[in-house]
Amino acid sequence: MSASAGTIVAYVGLGSNLEEPVRQVEAGLRALEAIPETRCTARSSLYTSEPMGPPGQSDYINGAAELHTRLGAHDLLLRLQAIEQAHGRKREIHWGPRTLDLDLLLFGQLTIDTALLKVPHPCMCERDFVLAPLFEIAPGLNIPGKGALTDLLRDCPSNHLKRCG
Ligand code: ADP
Ligand code: MG
Repeated sequence: MSASAGTIVAYVGLGSNLEEPVRQVEAGLRALEAIPETRCTARSSLYTSEPMGPPGQSDYINGAAELHTRLGAHDLLLRLQAIEQAHGRKREIHWGPRTLDLDLLLFGQLTIDTALLKVPHPCMCERDFVLAPLFEIAPGLNIPGKGALTDLLRDCPSNHLKRCG
């Protein structure tokens, strides 16, 4: 979907593996719809994936959403972080379990590299649990500096992703 005047098309990846993860991701998707100056224009199915990071974690639920927004990228990130906090996210262990993780995957075709925000999201191209939901809602996407989403998904290592609803 292309942006209307003054809006940017952004993509958000959602993930959870704590406290009823399907409910967490569904709540995250609903919260995206309430971000000011922003419309949620597509959402993927939900997927389960095996965890990366520390052993002994439960499987993850992942999904992706497309937003049309008039916010700047850093303002959108602050909104995403506020939603994470509202869902009890604690930043304790890197890649550790989390109630709700919201990543700004893409912001138009911009490349952003600041201390707080890197877009495209670092490592997204090596994560099938990010690429597959994204492909479902925007199969024709180009990832700036990386190439066609379809090629990236084909070459991505497997986290034993399963579509679950
Ligand atoms: P990950 O999602 O890679 O597992 P975290 O969610 O724990 O890691 O990382 C959050 C940190 O990453 C935040 O401090 C945030 O400022 C930074 N960050 C950088 N780029 C992004 C982005 N595109 N989306 C979300 N957070 C980002
Ligand atoms: Mg994150």
